[in-house]
Amino acid sequence: MTALPKVAVVGAGIEGAAAAFYMSARHGLAPVLFDPDPFSGASQVAAGMLAPVAEAVYGEESLLEMMLEAAREWSSLDDALRAMGLESGYRGGGSLLVASGPNDVAEIERTHAYYQRLGLAVRRLRAAEAREVEPALAPSSGPALYTEIDNQVDNRVAHRSLLAGAFKAGATLIEKRVAEVARRSSGWALLDGQGAEHHFDKVVIAAGVRSGEIAGLPGYMEKALRPIRGQVLRLRVAPGTGPSLVIRSIWDGRLVYVVPRLGGEVVVGASAEEVGFDATRKARSTYELLRDTFKVLPGLGEADLAEVNVGFRPGTSDNFPILGEVRDGLYLDAGHFRHGILLASITGRWIAEAVATGKAPEGMATFAPSRLEARP
Ligand SMILES: Cc1cc2nc3c(=O)[nH]c(=O)nc-3n(C[C@H](O)[C@H](O)[C@H](O)COP(=O)(O)OP(=O)(O)OC[C@H]3O[C@@H](n4cnc5c(N)ncnc54)[C@H](O)[C@@H]3O)c2cc1C
Repeated sequence: MTALPKVAVVGAGIEGAAAAFYMSARHGLAPVLFDPDPFSGASQVAAGMLAPVAEAVYGEESLLEMMLEAAREWSSLDDALRAMGLESGYRGGGSLLVASGPNDVAEIERTHAYYQRLGLAVRRLRAAEAREVEPALAPSSGPALYTEIDNQVDNRVAHRSLLAGAFKAGATLIEKRVAEVARRSSGWALLDGQGAEHHFDKVVIAAGVRSGEIAGLPGYMEKALRPIRGQVLRLRVAPGTGPSLVIRSIWDGRLVYVVPRLGGEVVVGASAEEVGFDATRKARSTYELLRDTFKVLPGLGEADLAEVNVGFRPGTSDNFPILGEVRDGLYLDAGHFRHGILLASITGRWIAEAVATGKAPEGMATFAPSRLEARP
């Protein structure tokens, strides 16, 4: 019998946690995670939308297939976590895209036509029908698109559960930052910056937007990732009140989304700014998010404003994640941009399979790191 490879995962955000979960629970590996603070990254800030339909973008159709598979995988992942006595906060019921202003109806029609061309199951609702589906909508709100495909998880709960599930199945955590990855005669060494070296057969880099800061990676990684700042709000309402569906609203061309959790938390997001790692919680962003939310869901004006958070989406030059082997057992699992909660299910499964079997699953090739080699 061949010995199982010794595997490390650098970064224990939702991507590292999902990869470690699949490696341990599905493939019987015992990965060692490295992270000085697993709950400090974007995975704890995000809204948790699993939205392949709403996030379908002109020119990014090859990502759509992966996002649809990721949404299906979340429902199996939820089952797998439950079987271990853990929760993901997965919530079905679907999502609405609402034209909140009179000038936004044309955008809804354009979007509907685009979804139809892509063959996505979306229903167009008249304004009154939309309000029947979601009574919390403003009386002035317009027509909407409804899809059952887009749902949500409570990303904070899911992230913690994936880590807990991985630990139950044999993974461990070393609370250290990795400064460098270096090739050794057999396998890889992780240097923690305090003089210690940790040796592994295979290493997965899943350090989110900071992945490129680790020394020893291919040169193109230095500039492959950039932070896209996002500010989100967490409101609190009495459980059972407030909206029940994920609502995306367009008002005067601006998008705001509202993600209600079962326990009464309502996530409102999000700004998207290219301003580096500026973590200021900006008054202007809070104002704009609330203003646009009250246009579509006026009842939320009575909610408790519980949290204002800033996170950094790990952006890439083509908006695609960076996934796959770069050299003899060194893998990248980074750059999930604005879809990282959704994609954690499928990228976790794929990376774990590639590490455990040595063969990359077919769908992963499109996102191979080698595509970045040719870029300036
Ligand atoms: C405002 C906002 C809203 C979002 N909403 C959604 C959404 O609704 N749906 C969706 O699918 N996605 C959403 N996203 C995107 C999603 O949050 C990210 O794509 C995802 O969280 C990335 O996960 P990650 O594990 O790669 O990174 P992170 O969660 O940032 O984790 C990276 C981890 O790596 C660790 N680390 C960094 N450097 C090192 C090192 N050198 N050594 C060891 N560890 C290291 C950090 O401590 C951190 O814990 C949103 C993002 C933002 C900012």
